[in-house]
Amino acid sequence: MSTCALDLTYENFKKQLSPEDTLATVPGLYFSPRNGRVLIVEPDSASWQVLTREDSGFLIHLRLLAPGSSSRLWRKLKDLRAGLSPDLEEQLDRWLYRLFINNMLTINGYTYHQPSKLWPIQKYPHYFNLHLTEACNLHCRYCRVGDLNLPAQPMSVETCKKIIRRVIEEIPGEKIIIGFHGGEPLLNIDCLIEGSKYAGELAAAAGKEVTLSLQTNGLLLSRYSGLLKELKVEVGVSIDGPADIHNQHRIFRSGRGSFEEVMAGIKSGRAAGLSPGFLAVVHKPENYLPVARFMVETLGATSFRLNYSCYEGRAKNELDFDRQRAENFARGWLRLLDFAVEYQRQTGTWLSIDDLNLFIAHLLSKDRPHMCYRSPCGAGNSILGFGADGKIYLCEELVGKEDFCLGQIDFAPRLDKLLEESEINLRAADRRQVDNVAACAGCPWKRFHGAGCLNKSFEYFGDIEHCDPMCHFYRVIFEELIWKLVDNPELKNLTSYYKKYIKIHNESPG
Ligand code: SF4
Ligand code: SF4
Repeated sequence: MSTCALDLTYENFKKQLSPEDTLATVPGLYFSPRNGRVLIVEPDSASWQVLTREDSGFLIHLRLLAPGSSSRLWRKLKDLRAGLSPDLEEQLDRWLYRLFINNMLTINGYTYHQPSKLWPIQKYPHYFNLHLTEACNLHCRYCRVGDLNLPAQPMSVETCKKIIRRVIEEIPGEKIIIGFHGGEPLLNIDCLIEGSKYAGELAAAAGKEVTLSLQTNGLLLSRYSGLLKELKVEVGVSIDGPADIHNQHRIFRSGRGSFEEVMAGIKSGRAAGLSPGFLAVVHKPENYLPVARFMVETLGATSFRLNYSCYEGRAKNELDFDRQRAENFARGWLRLLDFAVEYQRQTGTWLSIDDLNLFIAHLLSKDRPHMCYRSPCGAGNSILGFGADGKIYLCEELVGKEDFCLGQIDFAPRLDKLLEESEINLRAADRRQVDNVAACAGCPWKRFHGAGCLNKSFEYFGDIEHCDPMCHFYRVIFEELIWKLVDNPELKNLTSYYKKYIKIHNESPG
């Protein structure tokens, strides 16, 4: 064996095998037995396969697999084949093929995937998130602004235009997203109108494609939906589920829940021709199912996002975060799979639930289309956040946190140079490499998950050196998703829109 072309077929693999080849196992594989089968994961290339216990016993007997071993075991192919019947030899070759393309075996020192080439890092951001104001007409119990010292004034139209002009002119890339956030961005409607028009004009002149997006609490949609439709702004509405769940946390300053007003906003938006996306924050794991049902049955949505609540801002004081949280959330979240399967049985439609869709994509592909699940995450390389005062941050979630401020739009050097030279950016990019996060370096799921969110590490541990505070959630769900996918390969349909962004590497799992 002398070459390692990707998309290697079994027939070509077999043709290239020579009795003199040296086969060596890869150390550090993760083994997890269950009900007569064994899941094996190769962490550096995010490869996996499920074997019967007999097959894995056969490979262990041949010293091709060595659970728990930290050293390479090697054999000559001719020695492995010695004494085997033609049938067993064929079986052996098929196993060698599977082990090889899953990076669990090297042949003459070659690996199928080169981990150093598998995980490219985006150089410049494409997503620019502007906090038009930190003011809000709600007072949600988990709002991130809780303990931050944020600018009291809304963004000026001049600052908004300057940011848009500079990102279009100074940051390389053909496709960009301008996101309007806050606070409640519709409270600064002048900026939104002027910024949207300006972004469209400048992008057209620069030959770039711009997408405009807005995340809103929905309260002002009754007033502005027509305008948003005209400006071609994609709208996402935050709604936490049915009234009894939504009204627990998405409240007015008086403490009253906002469900009715948000629903009225959604109705107006749809009447004006908008197709809003929906985002719910789930704080109790038992709520995953009722919230998903609400999205489907009440809102008629087949695509939506469910995020768990995070330990940050106001939530630190207002909400409970118990010790069993990650385990309980994982078990609650996994029920979404059964819900989606049942929905598909009844209607023929596969739901698109973020990030269920993405995580299944991660099991099937080496591509990592979402910036938050890369290593390092997208802070500074895929996204920049801009405060209402024009300050520039590594990420939208870091707006207002001085440790991650790169400068101010009025005084900063060219933005591409700023990113290339900023110590803050370079340090974050280095520290958030999954192999540089101590807890993640030996984790079987490190290339499925990345090291988790820089911001969440900072909020929970006070530094960026830690793994995701919900680490255990990811450890549970990636393993459970694999077992479920092996038992029901149809689940790959749940990747939904991510299909467009990934190349499938593991077509027939198991
Ligand atoms: S955060 Fe946890 S699950 Fe994710 S890579 Fe790190 S150790 Fe693994
Ligand atoms: S800091 Fe968190 S939210 Fe921002 S890009 Fe990284 S993972 Fe995503």
